[in-house]
Amino acid sequence: MKVVRFHAPGDVRVEDAPEPTPGPGEVRIRVRNCSTCGTDVKIWRFGHHHIDPPRVMGHEIAGEIVEIGAEVTGWQPGDRVQVIAAIPCGRCDQCRRGRMTVCPNQESIGYHYEGGFAQYMVVPAKVLAVDGLNRIPDGVSFAEASVAEPLACVLNGQELARVGEGDDVVVIGSGPIGCLHVRLARARGAARVTLVDLNRDRLDLAAALVAPDATVCAAETDPVDAVLKVTDGAGADVVITAAASGAAQEQALQMVGRQGRISFFGGLPKDRPVIAVDANLVHYRELTIVGANGSSPAHNKAALQLIASGAVPVADLITDRLPLERALDAFDIVSRGAGIKVTIEP
Ligand SMILES: [Zn+2]
Ligand SMILES: [Zn+2]
Repeated sequence: MKVVRFHAPGDVRVEDAPEPTPGPGEVRIRVRNCSTCGTDVKIWRFGHHHIDPPRVMGHEIAGEIVEIGAEVTGWQPGDRVQVIAAIPCGRCDQCRRGRMTVCPNQESIGYHYEGGFAQYMVVPAKVLAVDGLNRIPDGVSFAEASVAEPLACVLNGQELARVGEGDDVVVIGSGPIGCLHVRLARARGAARVTLVDLNRDRLDLAAALVAPDATVCAAETDPVDAVLKVTDGAGADVVITAAASGAAQEQALQMVGRQGRISFFGGLPKDRPVIAVDANLVHYRELTIVGANGSSPAHNKAALQLIASGAVPVADLITDRLPLERALDAFDIVSRGAGIKVTIEP
């Protein structure tokens, strides 16, 4: 079978590999869609400390079961499934307290285990053990189901930031994650959503799809001034930074209103993780700053339901479909911000 394998930074190859066989507690799937995200581009360029190469990449996975390992019950060949990306251990104190996204023993598909940029893939027993293999609801395509993983992460972020009815929400970053944040904020009852990006082309592309109430191109207009203007000086209830930018995080603190919540959804580059925070703003305005680290198996199930019910449509966000052989072209589209969701169809 064909796979997309990471060998070293800058060295990702489409090559042949033997078809894997499922061990006890595992299933083998025929991958139908594995979507790409910014992380794939980062791995391609810089590698990742959790990847011991060579490793098949890809972690936004939907496919069809073709073979069942020993001791697996409840599944059969032909079942359509979505696979979680982050695998909590299910046993530690954090997991037992329901905080699976911060499990210190977390492992990931495409990092510790072979990923989904492949014709076939074995779903590790650890995934099934934490209920991380999800049935794709009828009416949801494989391509849409592959977007459940990033949507699950977005859902985790908005739960932590308590996005809800009547909120004035600002999303900084108009890539696929930013688009999902806009759609989910609407589904959760936000009264107004403003989308901000430095890149005018990408902002226009995203805005045409997700129709925010206002857009701000941060290269043309000061985004803090713009948000204060839109909110009549009050500031936003929630600001979500879906961009790897310390400047965006600092701006978020200046455009958020009283008792506002700020989600540092996107992480910062490893060598520049420090920003300036006016602690008195946080103190007097009773601000909440939250992070977001992936998603739990339950978030993935909820995301599939949000897609199935139509609350968060994702089909139109899939702008590019490429065969496995063109994975590097797909990474290139993602790195240029030329598409929204770019999916691989092995
Ligand atoms: Zn991802
Ligand atoms: Zn754990």
